[in-house]
Amino acid sequence: MEFDYDLFVIGAGSGGVRASRISSSLGAKVAIAEEFRVGGTCVIRGCVPKKLLVYASHFSEDFEDAAAYGWTVGETSHSWETLIQNKDKEIDRLNRIYHGILDNNNVTLFEARATIVDKNTVRVGDKTVTAKYILIATGGWPVMPDVPGIEHAISSNEALHLEEFPKRIIVVGGGYIAVEFAGIFNGLGAEVTQLYRSTQILRGFDSDVQNFLADEIQKKGINLRTHSNPAKIEKTDSGLKVTLEDGDVIETDAIMYATGRKPNTDNLGLENVGVELKENGAVKVSPGSQTNVDNIYAVGDVTDRLSLTPVAIHEGMAFAETVFGNRPSAADHENVPSAVFSQPQVGTVGLTEAEAREKFGEVDIYKSEFRPMKMTLTGGTEKAFVKLIVDQKTDIVVGVHIVGGDAAEIIQSVGIALKCKATKTQFDATVGVHPSLAEEIVTMREKFVAA
Ligand code: NDP
Repeated sequence: MEFDYDLFVIGAGSGGVRASRISSSLGAKVAIAEEFRVGGTCVIRGCVPKKLLVYASHFSEDFEDAAAYGWTVGETSHSWETLIQNKDKEIDRLNRIYHGILDNNNVTLFEARATIVDKNTVRVGDKTVTAKYILIATGGWPVMPDVPGIEHAISSNEALHLEEFPKRIIVVGGGYIAVEFAGIFNGLGAEVTQLYRSTQILRGFDSDVQNFLADEIQKKGINLRTHSNPAKIEKTDSGLKVTLEDGDVIETDAIMYATGRKPNTDNLGLENVGVELKENGAVKVSPGSQTNVDNIYAVGDVTDRLSLTPVAIHEGMAFAETVFGNRPSAADHENVPSAVFSQPQVGTVGLTEAEAREKFGEVDIYKSEFRPMKMTLTGGTEKAFVKLIVDQKTDIVVGVHIVGGDAAEIIQSVGIALKCKATKTQFDATVGVHPSLAEEIVTMREKFVAA
């Protein structure tokens, strides 16, 4: 049977665009549909604009530290409007680049919402097209819990476009997005209260990292309140009144929820073909990203495996190689390095101590907590933390966790070592780069023994 396309991709984010480009280069006739802007969450309203705001928010501290290094900085002020305008210009530029990628690879773009009609038919805008394969790459969207007055709250989407910079803001949640945005607003001068409903932020991270980061962000001025959650939000003449579950009341100018993201699978027509979903609405896939319908695949956040852009890209490439390159492959979800752009940053790869103990039984722990060199002149109290987890039987390093400046940059290379199953002996045989934070990774010799 003849189809209009070999592949129809729904969603032009990181995973969808990469899958389209590679499939096309392997000879497939490809179309892609995007209902918002080409580029997806990471480029348009996620990693990229967020990181630009993180850069912006670091300056306040740099200005303060500068004095100890002999600089007179003088009066400083910040224009949120300029920052947002410049950030938007950069996002527009990247959006054009993504359009260019599709054009240059002969991928037909439909700027409309697509829904699945049957296993080979897609309705896109007012057109109906057929395809041999369909790839779902629709990503996710912020979840706003059902709290009275939630309509007054924003998500990270709106935080990137606020017309006015809030003097006071509450950030709800303890995950990646909450800690990153709490740091951004704090650095730019807002009075930040971060509310987390349970015991410690960054659930799922190594517990030393959780505790260390919680201490550091509080030292920087974020009012972190654990076991706290809003019960209702009311608009007042002077801003918002947020009543917590424990009865406390906080007056604020804005409240941002970062309470998780939901896979975009509603009203996609998946029920028309019987694509199976997980309980949380994510598309169920095999390691090779195939759904239970043999010609329909899914990659990226919509599958709720590891919601990270580079992972979606790997999944998209593996899909293209498998289906159009005749090289069956699957993205590898082991030892994926990742970073939280909190202040200070967190970089992590491999297992947490708890996971390693569960998996290997006996593990050796190496930990180091120290004052970064930059702080020696400033008298700053910021500290850095490095932790290595080693499987005792094989000497293989199975987890590395860093909190400190440039942790994101450092952990990328450490990720290669873990992929190569490097041993602690090999870490030790590596000469350090001095003076640097990273040298700590290869100079720790004393096993940590709990007191
Ligand atoms: P997360 O799932 O990481 O965190 C959600 C947070 O909200 C948790 O602290 C959770 O608490 C809390 N929460 C959930 N529901 C409620 C509720 N009803 N009321 C109050 N609190 C609630 O989601 P994020 O939105 O932060 O990020 C989504 C994903 O995006 C991340 O998992 C990550 O994969 C990706 N991401 C990656 C980044 C990076 O690589 N730097 C940056 C940003 C996002 P609890 O712990 O109790 O469940």
